[in-house]
Amino acid sequence: MSRKMIVAGGGIGGMAAALALHRAGLDVTVFERAPAFAEVGTGMSLWPNATRILQSLGVLEQVMARGELVTQFNLLRPDGRLISMVPMTGYPTPALCMHRAELHRTLYQPLPARCLETNQVFQSFTQDDGGVTAKFAGGHEVRADGLIGADGINSLIRAQLHGAEPPAYRGYCIWRGLAPDPGGLVRGHISETWGAGERFGIMPIGQARICWYATRNGPRSQPDAAEGRKAEVLELFRHWHGLIPALIEATPAASILKNDACDRPALRPWGRGVVTLLGDSAHPMTPNVGQGACMAIEDAACLAKLLPGAPNLAAAFRTYERRRQTRTAFIARQSRRIGIIGQWENPLMVRGRNFITRLVLARPPDLQLNAVYAYEV
Ligand SMILES: Cc1cc2nc3c(=O)[nH]c(=O)nc-3n(C[C@H](O)[C@H](O)[C@H](O)COP(=O)(O)OP(=O)(O)OC[C@H]3O[C@@H](n4cnc5c(N)ncnc54)[C@H](O)[C@@H]3O)c2cc1C
Repeated sequence: MSRKMIVAGGGIGGMAAALALHRAGLDVTVFERAPAFAEVGTGMSLWPNATRILQSLGVLEQVMARGELVTQFNLLRPDGRLISMVPMTGYPTPALCMHRAELHRTLYQPLPARCLETNQVFQSFTQDDGGVTAKFAGGHEVRADGLIGADGINSLIRAQLHGAEPPAYRGYCIWRGLAPDPGGLVRGHISETWGAGERFGIMPIGQARICWYATRNGPRSQPDAAEGRKAEVLELFRHWHGLIPALIEATPAASILKNDACDRPALRPWGRGVVTLLGDSAHPMTPNVGQGACMAIEDAACLAKLLPGAPNLAAAFRTYERRRQTRTAFIARQSRRIGIIGQWENPLMVRGRNFITRLVLARPPDLQLNAVYAYEV
């Protein structure tokens, strides 16, 4: 009989784990608190390290059909002058941008209905020699051989294992919006524009839609009305180059999302017994390298490699954690550093930063980038 696995949380990480484990022959069920899988989120980038795994899961073609290929990343100044560019070609699988909801759908559509349970709010677990019992709101209990906590940055499973600490705020907020494609963008090019304490990113995500994001230094956000966000962002980026003000103008005000940039210190080990963590519950990171979901997809592939046939599930979980800890801590550190440097405000430091970044990114081939994108789980 195949092992019975519970995945708590049906975001990108939980769904990637469910698909990978299902394809590997395990009996897996995702328990998601939302009543339905809705169109939440906005655009996101998927880099070659993640698209390679999507290819092995047999869903890369759908992802490519729903998203937009990325061939070049441009780093710009607020007046539009180029600081540097990074070609995104030459990897076995492409980089692309797409709507989060489209990726989510691509991951859960191939799963049989019995693998997905919505409206299930995970509350706690107990474990014993025979396995694990997950407890859900309303008194529902589910018994399984193993539990994978994929319940995001505020994971209850992580809190039960390691204590409830709030995520660490890194000093800037991020707005995100979706606008209709106004035309005039070079196909395949994405960009980030670095100012002083502010950044603006542009990513075409396919189907004539452009995702943008903007950052600004400041204290932790207080709850704010979505309506005021558009005017605030427009005011900040009104004089930035080309399409930036027009993209903000063309974005429906109520759809603009705002997040604080947060992560958590690296955790070691992630789980205990037949319970482990995956994705943001294990290693939430700031979004500066666009790798949070990509890391969750890598986690899923690693589990699917190690679990089938493993004689001891707890030992297999610890091997998984050891394999993933170094990699995810490295990416989270890189992301935090880029966030710190990218948010510098001092004009002299900003000029030095732009100069050095140009030199660093000009080295062919960039070993750091290869370490990130050419990684095999
Ligand atoms: C501004 C921003 C931009 C980003 N851009 C990118 C990008 O371009 N590329 C990239 O790879 N990553 C990006 N990320 C990171 C990425 O969004 C996350 O790393 C990724 O979504 C994590 O997936 P996850 O499944 O681990 O967690 P989540 O997506 O948070 O999913 C957790 C799921 O668990 C459910 N859940 C929570 N609690 C419970 C409970 N008690 N019971 C049952 N279910 C529960 C939630 O409803 C949710 O569905 C970005 C993040 C931010 C904030």
